[in-house]
Amino acid sequence: MSPLRPRRTETLIIGSGPGGAVTGAVLAEAGRDVLMLEEGADLALDAAAPFSCDEMLLKYRNAGVSVALGNSKLAWVEGRCVGGGSEINRGLYHRTPEYILEEWTRRFQVKDLQPAVMRPHFEACETVARVEYAHHRAPEISRRLQSGAEVHGWHAGEAPRLYTYSPEEALRSSAPPGGKQSMSATFVPRFRQAGGQLLSSTRVRRLRREGSFWIAETEQRGADGGRHRSEVRADRIVVACGAVQTPALLRRSGMTRNIGNTLRFHPMVKVVADFGEMVNRAGDYDPVHQIREFEPQIGMGCSISTPAQLGMALAGQKDAWSLVREHWQNMGLYYVQSSGGSARVRNVRGFVDPMVRVRFEEDDLALLAVNLARLATALFAAGARRIYPCIPGYPVLETRADIASLPDKLRPADGSLTSVHVFSSCPMGEDERVCAVNSFGAMFGTEGLYINDASLLCTPTGVNPQGTVMAVARRNAIAMLERRSR
Ligand SMILES: Cc1cc2nc3c(=O)[nH]c(=O)nc-3n(C[C@H](O)[C@H](O)[C@H](O)COP(=O)(O)OP(=O)(O)OC[C@H]3O[C@@H](n4cnc5c(N)ncnc54)[C@H](O)[C@@H]3O)c2cc1C
Repeated sequence: MSPLRPRRTETLIIGSGPGGAVTGAVLAEAGRDVLMLEEGADLALDAAAPFSCDEMLLKYRNAGVSVALGNSKLAWVEGRCVGGGSEINRGLYHRTPEYILEEWTRRFQVKDLQPAVMRPHFEACETVARVEYAHHRAPEISRRLQSGAEVHGWHAGEAPRLYTYSPEEALRSSAPPGGKQSMSATFVPRFRQAGGQLLSSTRVRRLRREGSFWIAETEQRGADGGRHRSEVRADRIVVACGAVQTPALLRRSGMTRNIGNTLRFHPMVKVVADFGEMVNRAGDYDPVHQIREFEPQIGMGCSISTPAQLGMALAGQKDAWSLVREHWQNMGLYYVQSSGGSARVRNVRGFVDPMVRVRFEEDDLALLAVNLARLATALFAAGARRIYPCIPGYPVLETRADIASLPDKLRPADGSLTSVHVFSSCPMGEDERVCAVNSFGAMFGTEGLYINDASLLCTPTGVNPQGTVMAVARRNAIAMLERRSR
C-alpha cells in the first residue's frame, strides 16, 4: 500500500448518496470549501441496464449480498457508487407523512420538524430532482394492484417517482424509459458546478480528533488495483455513509453512544401472481402502484418483474425456470412490507463489513402473514389465476379459498425476508437517552462532527424514505451554515 498526499478541507462529507449529495450541494453553493469522499466508483447512470445482474455487480455493495442474522434472517441491499442508493432504486417518492414527523417530535424531541418547516425543504429538493407521475404509461401489472384494491374499497394509487417521463417517449411504444433523477444526475453535478471536489473509490477507514481538527484515514483503490492510504484533515466532518455503514464507521472510530443500536427497516415478503393473460411486456415502464390502506404498519406494491427477477422470486418452486420461460408475460411480482424488527450494527475484528444482528417479535411475523393473505385477496380480485408465495414450502394458491391454508405467522426459519430500506441507526433529537445526535445531526459531546443520512430518521417512515432523507439533509445543511446546530 502506498501513501497518497494528505489533503486539507473545511468540510469533509463521507458518502455521496441522497444524504451526502444534498448536503454537499447546499454547502458548496453557499461558497464553502467541501470535499466529498465516496467508497464506490463514479459510474454513468447507464453504465449497466437498470435492475440487471451487471448493475448489481457494478453498483451494489458486495454485489447485493448482505444478510442480517438473528432469530430470523433478513437480506438487505445497499448502493456503493457515486449517488449511493439513488442510482439503483426506482425513485418511488413520498414526502414524510405528517403523523411520522409528529411522532418524531413527540418521542425523540426533535426541534423544527413541523410540516410547515419541512415543506420548503421538500419543495426545494423536488425542484432539483424532479418528481413526476407515469399516469397512462404505468404497466398493466401495476394497474392490476390498484384494481384489486378497489374491489375491496382499499385506498391505493400511483406513487410519483424521482423521474422525468418525456411526452414524446409516451408516443413511441418501443421507446426506452425516460430519465431517472438519481443523485449523479441532479445534486452531484450541482455540487461539482459550485466548486465541490469529489474523490470516488475512496473509503474512510476511521476518524480521529487531533487538536481542533478531524482526521479521516482513507484508503483509495487505484486504477492499478492497488490500495493507497492517506489522510484528510477537516474542520468539520459530515458522515453520510447510509444507515449501516455510518454507525460502523463511527463505532470503528470509538464513538458508540446510541450509535448502531436501533437499525430499522421495512421487511418485505413477496408473491408472484400469474394472471393467465399478457400483462407484462419487455420495455414496460417500472411499476408504480401501491396499496396505502394499511399504512403506517403495512405497505404493499408491485416490484420490478423482469424474467430474471421472477426467476429469483420463484427459485423455491419446482421447475422454476420453465415456469418463468413459459409464463413470465402473464406474471407480476408483488410485495408486502412492514415496519417490524430491529437490529444492531457491530464491527467484528478482522472483517471489513459489520455484523448486523436482527430481532423480530412474534407479532412482527404475524402481521406480515396477515397482510400476505390480504395481498393475495387483492390479486385474486384483480384476475390472478394462480399465486406463488415466495417462501419455501408455502402452498401455491389456485383459488381465493386456498388463502386460508397459509400459515398465520411467518416461521423465523423461513429466511425469506428482504429489505431495500434501512434507517434509524443513529436517531436525531434532543432526548440524549435515546438519540445519537441533536435535532440537526450534530454529535453530542464533540465539536464539528455531524451525521446527515438515513441513519437520522427516528423510526421507519412507512413510505419510501428517500424524500425524507433528502429533505432532512437539506434542513440540517442549512442549519450548519447558520450555525444553529452548535
Ligand atoms: C434497491 C433499492 C431500492 C430502493 N427503492 C427506493 C424507492 O423506490 N424510493 C425511496 O424513497 N427509497 C428507495 N430506496 C432507499 C433509498 O435509496 C435510501 O433511503 C437512500 O439511498 C439512503 O440515502 P443515504 O444517503 O442515507 O445512503 P446511501 O444512499 O446508502 O449512500 C451512502 C453512500 O456512502 C458510501 N459509503 C459508505 N461507507 C463509506 C465509507 N466508509 N467511506 C466512503 N464512502 C462510504 C456508500 O458507498 C454509498 O454510496 C431503495 C434502496 C435500494 C437499495
